[in-house]
Amino acid sequence: MPDPQIEKLLIVQDRDVAVQKIEQELARIPQERSALEGHITAEEANIEAASHALKEKEVERSELDTEIKTKEEAIARFRTQQLEVKKNDEYRALTHQIEQTEQEISDLEERVIELLLEIDETSETFQEEKATIDARIVEEKKQITLLSEREENLKASIDEAKAAVETARSVVDENYLSHYDRVKKLSKRPPYVARIEAHKCGGCHLRVSNEVNGNALVAGEPHFCDQCARMVYA
Ligand SMILES: [Zn+2]
Repeated sequence: MPDPQIEKLLIVQDRDVAVQKIEQELARIPQERSALEGHITAEEANIEAASHALKEKEVERSELDTEIKTKEEAIARFRTQQLEVKKNDEYRALTHQIEQTEQEISDLEERVIELLLEIDETSETFQEEKATIDARIVEEKKQITLLSEREENLKASIDEAKAAVETARSVVDENYLSHYDRVKKLSKRPPYVARIEAHKCGGCHLRVSNEVNGNALVAGEPHFCDQCARMVYA
């Protein structure tokens, strides 16, 4: 015949464990949330860096265009000057300048073509990566919302769970309760009230003494494991 006080304490224990689970889950939420937020920030920074690199290439391209235009204007100027000069060596000097500038323009145009290819490739990769990252960010933000909802639900249920513990405690004998609270404080994890089966404590799984094993059958007073000090019953 099991001790009725133990039976009542087992209900207290169940409800205590339920509260602990809610508390543990609540405690994990801020970490989970900041991990998600940190990840989003890092992803956004990556997109920003990639976008910046692309913009720099666009700027370089537009600078090259301007440079080419300036050089083309210079050539036009040299040609006009050629019409005005009288001396042959002045004419030749201008021809030389024109040829040199044309070569410079050709070099710049080559660089523009390279740059256009780079921009094409970078832009394509960027768009693909951005789409993937954006989708991931949306997913992570959704997870943060779910996390907040779970937090609200847990906060709402913890009061109820604690009230259920109090209800269960109110019908337990004082002596048993104070021992239970003491064991709960000492033990790192539940159970605080453990069944002895096959001579072994259900809390620490070690073999208990013959005395404890026998006493555990006796109702009316609390008994304790001689290995881990948990309250035991049989
Ligand atoms: Zn034990």
